[in-house]
Amino acid sequence: MSSLLRTRVVLNKAWKPRSLSTLTWTDCLDNIYAHNDKINAFTSVQDKNVLEKMNNNLGKDTPINDLPIALKDNFCTSSLPTTCGSAMLKDFTSPYDATVVHLLQKAGAKLIGKNNMDEFGMGSANIFSNAGAVKNPWEYKSNPAALDDPSQIRVAGGSSGGGAAAVAMDMCTVALGSDTGGSVRLPAAYCGVIGYKPSYGQISRNGLVAYANSLDTVGLLGRSVQDISAVYGVIAQYDEKDPTSIPSELRKQILEQEKEWIQNWKTSSPPTNDDLSGLCIGIPNEYYVDQLSTEVLDTWRRTIRSLRDRGATIISVSLPHTKYALPAYYIIALAEASSNLARFDGVRYGHRSNDALESDLIYANTRAEGFGPEVQRRILLGTHVLTAGTYESHFLPAQQARRLIVDDFNRIFLAKNELYEKDNRLPETEKVHVLLTPSSISTAPTIQESLPREQSCDKSKSKRVVEAYVNDVMTVPASLGGLPAITLPLGQSSKNGYPIGLQLIGQYGYDRFLLDISDRIMQRN
Ligand code: GLN
Repeated sequence: MSSLLRTRVVLNKAWKPRSLSTLTWTDCLDNIYAHNDKINAFTSVQDKNVLEKMNNNLGKDTPINDLPIALKDNFCTSSLPTTCGSAMLKDFTSPYDATVVHLLQKAGAKLIGKNNMDEFGMGSANIFSNAGAVKNPWEYKSNPAALDDPSQIRVAGGSSGGGAAAVAMDMCTVALGSDTGGSVRLPAAYCGVIGYKPSYGQISRNGLVAYANSLDTVGLLGRSVQDISAVYGVIAQYDEKDPTSIPSELRKQILEQEKEWIQNWKTSSPPTNDDLSGLCIGIPNEYYVDQLSTEVLDTWRRTIRSLRDRGATIISVSLPHTKYALPAYYIIALAEASSNLARFDGVRYGHRSNDALESDLIYANTRAEGFGPEVQRRILLGTHVLTAGTYESHFLPAQQARRLIVDDFNRIFLAKNELYEKDNRLPETEKVHVLLTPSSISTAPTIQESLPREQSCDKSKSKRVVEAYVNDVMTVPASLGGLPAITLPLGQSSKNGYPIGLQLIGQYGYDRFLLDISDRIMQRN
């Protein structure tokens, strides 16, 4: 019996089941028609007549039959354009559907439209989209005049800002996003919704336009853990079209451990839904960074106290290599991106410059016109770190740091990472089931504060480009480790009333467990 089984933690099968969201796809369409002009959460919306006929009778017995689901605009869909928020693909419609699209359709979901996003997933504020910025709907929901003063408009977060805003505005029940370094978790925190990044390889990436292959995951945004779990249950499957998909055998192996765990629990006295005794939560010291705002810190501290009151054991833990995560992430992600984006050459698909008289200028002119400034900057940086000399001085150390970060996680989790040898450096009593950290360093900043200095009218408020990268400091470690992580809306700023999200991180493969713990935590909030 593994160490996990000794603990008194239960998966939600033993809990009283609660129903899924009752939002209908027609409600969602009405909300989109009424508010998308203001919020800019969708780049395209499915026609009402098409939706009426869509997948009828296909998924009668599935939990997501008729569920209104939106897709980030980097999932290939044959019935709506796939722009990736880029001028490069503004007229592109994919000839095929992503695997997740097939699975959702087979289960009877209504695919309501495509969500706005930072160009090719690059950004933390959803201000780098060819379709314009997504606006944070938090205040607008209770005060329609809230978006009238441009200087006060806050970002929705990126890069899946359209999905987070759409969920917050009841324009869909669940939005699929992609999370490479936090793109689902950060916008969820800024918009006050739940944002879940599964373990790397749980959900097929076939048909998801790549940003950084070794980090990209399909993420889910929703208002309740139940809604997210229901959709996750449909799309988390092995896919032979994705070579990085977790093999069925390994999925089964982890599930067996989780089942054994539930079985063990059922033999002990059943807890109330509120009870968290037996759950061991780690608080990593290294996440107390200088940039953390006091309001986020307060929410973190208050939540720690409340979870302790509900019976959880709280342990302070150390993940000493966390400080390398942000630079390592930006080196690895940009190196991979520079190589991925080489396919947009004006020859095969997407935009082609009319301004190229000689064939060797097609490539340069097409890319200069098609990519926005942030994507161009990242292609240059990514190409640079792969050149001789810089490869040795930057790229290799970043890969080494990534391995050390994974080792840190494996050292402190009770569950074994099935991709590595068991780590016995710490006694079991010092290990944890999950980690609790903030999801962001602050509440949503204004669009003005987030613009790079060269694009901002108010230079005193804007930041240098690399300063914006610090917003990802809480989310990138789990991405480098391929670990499941979820943002839960657990607080509100006392200064501006905007939402604050905290992040739970679990061991690789223990996605069901993480969702179930999250559900239980949210039952009181
Ligand atoms: N903000 C991070 C970046 O720009 C993460 C983006 C993402 O997860 N797609 O790279």
